[in-house]
Amino acid sequence: MRTSELFVPTLREDPGEAEVPSHRLMLRAGMIRKVAAGIYTYLPLGLRVIRKIEQIIREELLRAGAQELLMPILSPAELWRETGRWDFYGKELFRCRDRHDREFCLGPTHEEVVTDLFRREVRSYRQLPLTVFQIQTKFRDEIRPRFGLMRAREFIMKDAYSFDAEMTGAAKSYQAMYDAYHRIFERTGLRFRAVEADTGLIGGTSSHEFMVLADTGEELIVYDPHGTYAANVERAEVPPPTEISIEPLQPLQKVHTPGAKTVEEVCALLGATPDRLVKTLLYTTDRGTVVAVLIRGDHQANEIKIKRYLGVHDLALADAETVQAITHAPPGFAGPIGLSHVRILADHAIRAMRNMIVGANEADAHYINANWDRDFQVEAFADFRQARAGDPTPDRTGTLHCARGIEVGHVFMLGTKYSEKMGATFLDAHGSEHFVIMGCYGIGVGRTVAAAVEQNHDDKGIIWPIPIAPFHVHLLPVTPSDAIAHLTETLYHDLQRAGIDVLWDDRDERAGVKFNDADLLGIPYQIILGDKGLAQGTVDLKERKTGRIEKLSPSSLISSLVDKLSMGAKA
Ligand code: ATP
Ligand code: MG
Repeated sequence: MRTSELFVPTLREDPGEAEVPSHRLMLRAGMIRKVAAGIYTYLPLGLRVIRKIEQIIREELLRAGAQELLMPILSPAELWRETGRWDFYGKELFRCRDRHDREFCLGPTHEEVVTDLFRREVRSYRQLPLTVFQIQTKFRDEIRPRFGLMRAREFIMKDAYSFDAEMTGAAKSYQAMYDAYHRIFERTGLRFRAVEADTGLIGGTSSHEFMVLADTGEELIVYDPHGTYAANVERAEVPPPTEISIEPLQPLQKVHTPGAKTVEEVCALLGATPDRLVKTLLYTTDRGTVVAVLIRGDHQANEIKIKRYLGVHDLALADAETVQAITHAPPGFAGPIGLSHVRILADHAIRAMRNMIVGANEADAHYINANWDRDFQVEAFADFRQARAGDPTPDRTGTLHCARGIEVGHVFMLGTKYSEKMGATFLDAHGSEHFVIMGCYGIGVGRTVAAAVEQNHDDKGIIWPIPIAPFHVHLLPVTPSDAIAHLTETLYHDLQRAGIDVLWDDRDERAGVKFNDADLLGIPYQIILGDKGLAQGTVDLKERKTGRIEKLSPSSLISSLVDKLSMGAKA
């Protein structure tokens, strides 16, 4: 394709609205344009990348035995009421009404619609297993749409659903999708890792997320570089400490800590290290109760673990009035001693501690040498904190490292969560009826594009991995002579004949402008055609990633490129 025929409105300046490199570069490279918050038009260059990723996804899912279908975006409220998600999904669900005042939503995911399809159409175990998928636009009214396609309100997702008669079969279907996801992300050329994940709003029993590794990623993952363990930090279990303090118990003592509210302030005042201090976090649950959770001063609470333990949907740190009402002290001085009418839970690490520093439930006061059991009671010790680098793996065979990632895919084992709620059953060989066992599997297509840019760029622009690049080669004639015009034309046709996607910058622009735009667009190879090279019988082949330039004769150029592109696509 010729640049003059491609609608690619590049920007010289950085757009003010973009906070992360992928968003900034996708706007600058003329790939996307914002229509409203979290709602974008995909311009031709952006759409080419989207289509390439979709193609890889489609091929691998078909290869794994899944069948493509397309469900509607609009779905009736009744289906969502059957599973309880009409209410549970809350404000993230885009809702609307038809002319008869019937309620609908714009699908954020399709478990309800696909389970309804199953219960109407599938009767017998003979029709199982079944896995279906679609690539379609999804809607979620995100509280903070941001980072361009990374967290949009309208976005393209591949969603797949598996149906099995037995648990062993369901585990196989899950594994087949898990393996397909590995092949998909390997084929995109991105660096990624599959991690154990929390099941969130979708629910179910087990799940893995596929993370594209990037320092700017929103997700924190922990992994064992010498083993197989990897998990989202939300999920990563921390085993109880094996070493228990054997310090003799010291007498409890109240100390004056004027204005010292944070861990750092208290430690500075008392000359202690944060691991001697215990934070008493007061949480309000969606049931209106307040719970105290004790966490060691240098550890971070993991609210997902606390929610799961309590079996609640929502949890928030108590506001100042609640803290005052419960502790009779301003925030910053809460402690477990004398705290009544509140459940007291503690992280495993607390069990190993002795002679700790805790708030005294009194302004400007803390206790030193507090000890559980002697000075206060704990209802239960459990895993309530966030894993961090240096912690042991759950089986204690390795040590965790941390990395940042972008969640591009998510696979869930759902079990019978949806089939029970919606009555999706089948008959076995003996004619008895069972609930079908389901799995669901998503990939954010737009988010994968953004993640690819986030992982692969430099200060000049994007550096596309070959398999998802909008074009393979950027043809850049830089001197306006007849000889160059002729050579460019010939190469353009020869490259296309060799099956190479080529973009020809046929604009009447200075070399510098063409070079800058080429680096911004990030097409993996640039062919630079100038009179100087031609006089010596060579053209320059520049690799965008390394900036390395090779001088090649026009006749050897094509075969060299074919080799590089096929090697790059496999890498
Ligand atoms: P997140 O925690 O980032 O909100 P999620 O857990 O809600 O994601 P899923 O319900 O698992 O996401 O959706 C499947 C995939 O769809 C995600 O892995 C992600 O790639 C993509 N996705 C989800 N929300 C968005 C969004 N707002 N914009 C773009 N892609 C999204
Ligand atoms: Mg979400």
